[in-house]
Amino acid sequence: MKKPVSAEKHQQRMAKVKEKIDQKIASADKQQGIIIVLTGNGKGKSSSAFGMLARSLGYGYQCSVIQFIKGAWECGEELFFAEHPKVDYHALGAGFTWETQNREADQLAASKAWEMAQERLMNPDFNLVILDELTYMFTQGLLDLDSVIETLQQRPAHQNVVITGRGAPEALQEVADTVSEIKDVKHAFRQGIMAQRGIEY
Ligand code: ATP
Ligand code: MG
Repeated sequence: MKKPVSAEKHQQRMAKVKEKIDQKIASADKQQGIIIVLTGNGKGKSSSAFGMLARSLGYGYQCSVIQFIKGAWECGEELFFAEHPKVDYHALGAGFTWETQNREADQLAASKAWEMAQERLMNPDFNLVILDELTYMFTQGLLDLDSVIETLQQRPAHQNVVITGRGAPEALQEVADTVSEIKDVKHAFRQGIMAQRGIEY
């Protein structure tokens, strides 16, 4: 067992920690929008993006959500956020490719969704743009990665962009400022538990 430290020692240690943290905060002085990529096989990518949407709305920012894959079901986030006056919400992506089984329709849906995303990524009025499930457009070869990256880099300087989806391409991770890979440790689905309303959708 660890020896208990005296109150005085603890205070000294914490003062050192505070000093280091304060230094780091002071040196992070660049003000600009960032690109966040949330990838990996674990649950929590889209729901994290919607958490940041709620935060941004808390400050009254204008936000846009483009969902590149339209799930089979309705989802709680759309029911809630699409009603918000500061949210421009579009769930217009392709269905799951194994459901539509129609390459041409998927391609058309992907191009339409990207066209819409491009407009938002050029519009300085939007403080936050969420490109939900964008990564599948690359794994399915429905969008050109280079032109997406070019548009991302030319966006208004203050604009934040959150991109979600499994298997984010290396080049996309490189241009991002923050990348989190969510690890799948366990998922209720594999124990035969039905998708939970309000939790999964
Ligand atoms: P969420 O929207 O819950 O944050 P996500 O965006 O990380 O999930 P997606 O890959 O977009 O995950 O999957 C969407 C749906 O699949 C959600 O209902 C989610 O709970 C479920 N899901 C996510 N990860 C897993 C997994 N490892 N096994 C089974 N189902 C999963
Ligand atoms: Mg998701």
